[in-house]
Amino acid sequence: MRLLRLTIACIIFGFITTVAVAWGLAAWLPQRNWPQQDLYRTNPVGMIHVAEYESAEATRRTISTIPLDGKPHLPFVCAIDQAPGINSVMSSSRMIPDDRWGFIPGQYGADSYASNRCEHATGWPLVAGWYGVTTLNAAYVIDGGVQLHSSRTGTLPTLNASKVRALPLRPIWTGLATNAAFYAIVWLGFAYGVSSVLRVKRRRHGMCVRCAYDLRGLRGEQPCPECGLPPPPAVYPRA
Ligand SMILES: [Zn+2]
Repeated sequence: MRLLRLTIACIIFGFITTVAVAWGLAAWLPQRNWPQQDLYRTNPVGMIHVAEYESAEATRRTISTIPLDGKPHLPFVCAIDQAPGINSVMSSSRMIPDDRWGFIPGQYGADSYASNRCEHATGWPLVAGWYGVTTLNAAYVIDGGVQLHSSRTGTLPTLNASKVRALPLRPIWTGLATNAAFYAIVWLGFAYGVSSVLRVKRRRHGMCVRCAYDLRGLRGEQPCPECGLPPPPAVYPRA
């Protein structure tokens, strides 16, 4: 029963930790100099371009259609603040972006106009949540996320897209489950560590290992008068 309660508590803490890590990364991880990969594809309306920036803790990607006739409008061209000298890699190995999250993979695969869009996923060890950024009346608009103060006042084009931040509200189920299990195991290990240290300490001081009742002066074969824990023979120091 105790083990079940502890396991449930650790799963809940694992989930909370997963969300906290994803939000912390979304709020504070520097959006700068992440390796970039570009995917291009032509369709009847133009060339669709996806730029994917990936760090160990986050992925940000953008999509835009570069029309065959007409000027491209690219509000997310600086979605990540890249230092000069960071070169992007043209990808031929992957035909579409990771489609476990975001609307961009579907847009990239479609034979129609891809509206300008940016999507951002965070989490560790896997990305677990994401939000999108679109534009409206020359301003950035967050969808599926809680916009953060630092990006609230900015409008296009004075605000670099790399400054736009939000806390993700859309789940990435595989990442959410994997990370929650990972952190639950970490919490379980931590709880076991703390409880075994506590047991050793209580035993050494002649206390009941379960409830810390002072057992000194009791006969060795008596159970704990407080919680009824039966005594292992070697535990109690003889008075
Ligand atoms: Zn006790």
